[in-house]
Amino acid sequence: MIIGSHVSLSAPDYFLGSVMEALSYNASALMIYTGAPQNTFRKNVSDFRIDEARRLLSEAGISDYSVIVHAPYIINLANTTKPETFELAVDFLKQEIDRTRSIGAKVIVLHPGSHVNAGEEIGLERIIEGLNLALVDNDDIEIALETMAGKGSELGYKFEHLAYIKNSVIKSNLIKVCMDTCHMSDAGYDVFEFDRLLDEFELVVGLEHLRVIHLNDSKNLPGARKDRHANLGYGELGFDFLHKVASHPRLALVPKILETPYVNDQPPYCQEIKMLRSGIFDDWLST
Ligand code: FE
Ligand code: FE
Ligand code: ZN
Repeated sequence: MIIGSHVSLSAPDYFLGSVMEALSYNASALMIYTGAPQNTFRKNVSDFRIDEARRLLSEAGISDYSVIVHAPYIINLANTTKPETFELAVDFLKQEIDRTRSIGAKVIVLHPGSHVNAGEEIGLERIIEGLNLALVDNDDIEIALETMAGKGSELGYKFEHLAYIKNSVIKSNLIKVCMDTCHMSDAGYDVFEFDRLLDEFELVVGLEHLRVIHLNDSKNLPGARKDRHANLGYGELGFDFLHKVASHPRLALVPKILETPYVNDQPPYCQEIKMLRSGIFDDWLST
């Protein structure tokens, strides 16, 4: 089971600290933001302690495809109203691609974007235009578009959006997908018919393009379009379902990443990873 969580990247150890945090959870994968997710200020990668971090990764046998970078959510390639927002998004994504290469990772997860008031078609075209610009000098780092809950004017709440973007981008081979269990349920997919969902994904996008799974429970009922993550087994999806996804044979090679909420300012990932590996839910939040 390739499993890990979101981990922090902060002073003084930066990427080395991220890897150490992941190893402390017994994780075999990890996901980082290269700085605060809500802004575009970034430390220079020369401070990241990359060599030491990579030594730890290779000792632990963690693959470069299991080290995931998540682009900050303020990046909105679908913005048609403010040219500065679009330019900033393209420019930041280019830098993020370079940072990802510097740390030796291969995949960046990106929220496709929100069209604000322009409508879905125009938003999708803008995303394609932005990705084409951002990928000009890149031939190796992949962008995994995330399945979204569909709150507000978010695009990417159906597989068809992601397939359309992928098939329209010039460097189509670099466009991949990240499935988020909370988001898919919120978007109205019947995730409990999980094999049928995988068949649909296979038909629309292709399972070989699935690079990451965000494994989250949801605070809301299917179709709520809210995007509120819950701890595993404490939401509407339930532990059995999430364990089924984590251990599904068709997804064995896809890294699963937890983005569940902290509990009393403490990360829940050690307990959650342990439960997923064992397949046994222990009601740790009630005790
Ligand atoms: Fe995300
Ligand atoms: Fe997610
Ligand atoms: Zn989410």
